[in-house]
Amino acid sequence: MLLGILKESAPGETRVALLPGSLKSLIAQGTSVLIEAGAGEGCGVSDRAYMDAGATVTADRASILAQADLLPVVNAPAAEDQGRLKPNAVVIGFLRPLDALAALLPAIERPTTLFSMELVPRITRAQSMDALSSMATVAGYKAVLSAADRLPRMFPMLMTAAGTVPPAKVFVIGAGVAGLQAIATARRLGAVVEAYDVRAAAGEQVRSLGAKFLDVDLGGINTEGGGGYAAELTEEALDRGRDLITKTAAHSDVIITTAQVPGRPAPRLIRRAAVEAMPPGSVLVDLAAPGGGNCELTRPGETQQINGVTLLAPMNLPAEVPVDASNLYSRNVLNFLGLIVKKGELVVDMTDEVLAGACVAHQGKPVNPRVAKLLETVSAT
Ligand code: NAD
Repeated sequence: MLLGILKESAPGETRVALLPGSLKSLIAQGTSVLIEAGAGEGCGVSDRAYMDAGATVTADRASILAQADLLPVVNAPAAEDQGRLKPNAVVIGFLRPLDALAALLPAIERPTTLFSMELVPRITRAQSMDALSSMATVAGYKAVLSAADRLPRMFPMLMTAAGTVPPAKVFVIGAGVAGLQAIATARRLGAVVEAYDVRAAAGEQVRSLGAKFLDVDLGGINTEGGGGYAAELTEEALDRGRDLITKTAAHSDVIITTAQVPGRPAPRLIRRAAVEAMPPGSVLVDLAAPGGGNCELTRPGETQQINGVTLLAPMNLPAEVPVDASNLYSRNVLNFLGLIVKKGELVVDMTDEVLAGACVAHQGKPVNPRVAKLLETVSAT
């Protein structure tokens, strides 16, 4: 079996799907590995390091696509690359099947077998493969540093001979994986942190990090959508959150917003009035930008100045911390490969709930039920 690693082609992408350290056990099993020259460049890993791990390096991208039986990626390959995949190859990565399924049609029709890291079930057995959590951890950390870098104030409280410097006030919206990491990072830098989430269960985690949890009376409605995720809320419930956010924004130097509902556009929680209420020089980082953003003024991928407030809407923060992001992702991918590579050969057992849950299509046929339903709409258009 031949495993291929491409140099990621998406603009601004610096991560790589597998690092040399993750290849050793695969090569020891008899898997051949073909790496595109420069694949590790973005995170400081040389072609030599891949060769030392036992891989072959080539500049011929087309030959990797044509020969690879197994292709771990960070992002879905472009349509042109998909059309050159070896029939029945297995591709694994952040394939965005719920929000960009049409872009996968060339690979599905080839046919190929596609596994999406976004769809790996969040069950205990699959925790070591949870690449969404890994990347959210990196993004939450980096969002705080990006905000600190732009803020014309310091985060910690300082008592100096020249007087006291008050601590920065940080407000985190959405206390999931990214939000909790943002809270922890802001606390380490000495900020005073408040946080809001619709899931009551998040309250205890927020408080355990030394932040204040802001409660909103949502009238006792169910806010849990299963699997630890939030449910989609009614406009009325969303409005109560928006009111709290507008009120809290008025005394926040930094807002980091991370609210998401799986498979849905990001909830619009931050009104223009909230941004306008923030103190001059304050910073808002909208980590939900890839899903459209939590703020109604967000323009995904753009940085804006609005009444003296800096609004950042980064599309790929993990790519700004490529070494640790690749390290974590590479280990998540290697753990996933443990399910389908046995003694150096590909063995795809679709009765395994992790594989079935993560599978977009197996040999061209849809597997995950949500993807199968979406595919009917996409194919009809
Ligand atoms: P996510 O990225 O889907 O959402 C981020 C946060 O936004 C969530 O905490 C969500 O409750 C919140 N949110 C959604 N709508 C909101 C709204 N209108 N207002 C305010 N907040 C809103 O979620 P995530 O960070 O990937 O994970 C959420 C939870 O899932 C985690 O806190 C964790 O408990 C659980 N989880 C479980 C596993 C596992 O393996 N069992 C792995 C990772 C996460």
